[in-house]
Amino acid sequence: MDGMSASNDPTAWKPASLRSKLFIDGQWVDGADGGTIDVINPHDGSVIAAIAEATAADVDRAVEAARKAFPAWSAMAAMDRGRLLLKLADRIEEEQAELGRLEALNTGHPFRDTQILDVPRTAVTYRYFGGMADKFEGSVIPVEAGFLNYLAREPVGVVGQIVPWNFPLMFTSWKMAPALAAGNCIVIKPSEITPLSTLRIAEMMQEVGIPDGVVNVVPGYGHTAGARIAEHPEIAKVAFTGSTATGRTVVKASAGNLKKLQLELGGKGANIVFGDALIPAAVGGSAFAIWHNQGQACIAGSRLMLHESIADAFMEKFVGLTESIRLGNPLDPATEMGPLTSKVHRQRVLDYCAVAREEGGEIVTGGTAPDDPALAAGCYVRPTVVRAKPGDRVCQEEVFGPFVSVMTFRDDAEALEIANGTDYGLGSGLWTADLKRAHKFAGALHAGMVWINSYKRVNPGSPFGGVGRSGYGREMGFEAMREYTHPKSVWVNVDAQIPPYYPR
Ligand code: NDP
Repeated sequence: MDGMSASNDPTAWKPASLRSKLFIDGQWVDGADGGTIDVINPHDGSVIAAIAEATAADVDRAVEAARKAFPAWSAMAAMDRGRLLLKLADRIEEEQAELGRLEALNTGHPFRDTQILDVPRTAVTYRYFGGMADKFEGSVIPVEAGFLNYLAREPVGVVGQIVPWNFPLMFTSWKMAPALAAGNCIVIKPSEITPLSTLRIAEMMQEVGIPDGVVNVVPGYGHTAGARIAEHPEIAKVAFTGSTATGRTVVKASAGNLKKLQLELGGKGANIVFGDALIPAAVGGSAFAIWHNQGQACIAGSRLMLHESIADAFMEKFVGLTESIRLGNPLDPATEMGPLTSKVHRQRVLDYCAVAREEGGEIVTGGTAPDDPALAAGCYVRPTVVRAKPGDRVCQEEVFGPFVSVMTFRDDAEALEIANGTDYGLGSGLWTADLKRAHKFAGALHAGMVWINSYKRVNPGSPFGGVGRSGYGREMGFEAMREYTHPKSVWVNVDAQIPPYYPR
């Protein structure tokens, strides 16, 4: 029986059971040091659970389990590995409401969003890569006569995955699904702030029959468990999502055994609205681009750039929509914006509101915590719209919250200069009726992803990742399968006449 049946109040929901230990070699175990970490409900500051804290020694245990599981898992017929992932996708869909509530409780994502985005996207990612497992083919290369040269794709071995707190369900699926489909074994560290859905997914993996040791979950702190994953000599590859600063630390730590790396780092997405854009669609899309998940998204459209001819009309509608967004308990299905995921992060975002004021920015709306006493104990920040200048810190640094910096531009050349004027290069969007301009900008934008008359679309088939300080490597699609495999070139002399190199 789940917590909802006991009471009809959706905000009173409590998980029927919660996994709070480390998951190593198919067992739920305490950390080697016996430490625990409180997992906090960002809505009211209450403790949801005390989870076991993974340390470096636990990462070592997990790597050992993964190493042991690797020969059988990588040798399993790809179709059978895929079948397990397909089963997992079905299980996730069966538990859509429960998983959504768990994610809402722990992260602050509105339950509403988890039902249309997080959980369905998680399920389709496992399904896509389940289907991919036996379709990711090698190739035959036309080399000189008499030789057969073929390219096989081999799993890299034990992979380490470090996942942040902003989209735990989805981000763990983006990392685990391709890695498993390709035949790797995993040591994954969810953020200690939001580990609950990852632990639940590990439990489901066991339920559908993924063998012990194939996936090991070690929630712990970044400077201990995370750092050990980054440096571990037996981990062949690390996939990391997080800040650019920590990404750099991971690169340095990985040098010991020259790990393969995949880095999905920050962003400062330009969302450009041209004078000929369809305004209602651009207003709605731009609101989703920044307000979804309280702006805690690497691809958030956090720089809103408006052509001067439509800026006033656009802002009137955009600010009106922003001020109408319903903040509240994420478990309430009517809530459209929840709290930020942690107190520390909430303070970081409020500090940026102060920076905006110091820089002479105009806070058009927001800039503070909400007045509502029912939200006073939570990590809430009102959605904040600031008029700022391209060089301002709030237009250059990742705020990672419900905070959008608005700028205007005169023409296409200025729009491109502003859009490309940060160190980041992850996602960008543009709104225009002019097809020529749309394609020109798609080519010229410094970004790994561009959305035209839309924003923040993702699909397991479409590569996700950035350029510049937004990192390298790609999640999703065939690109992700390449990331989780090594190409092996095999030469077979079938009938080659090779003249002797040292004729005697
Ligand atoms: P971090 O980059 O510090 O954390 C991301 C993950 O890396 C966490 O699991 C963290 O663990 C882990 N980590 C921390 N230190 C190390 C280390 N030395 N070696 C290996 N892993 C480590 O991000 P924050 O959570 O501090 O957020 C700060 C800012 O980063 C945000 O405001 C935002 O700008 C950006 N960010 C971007 C994300 C994205 O999706 N691209 C996601 C998250 C953050 P732990 O939680 O214990 O520190």
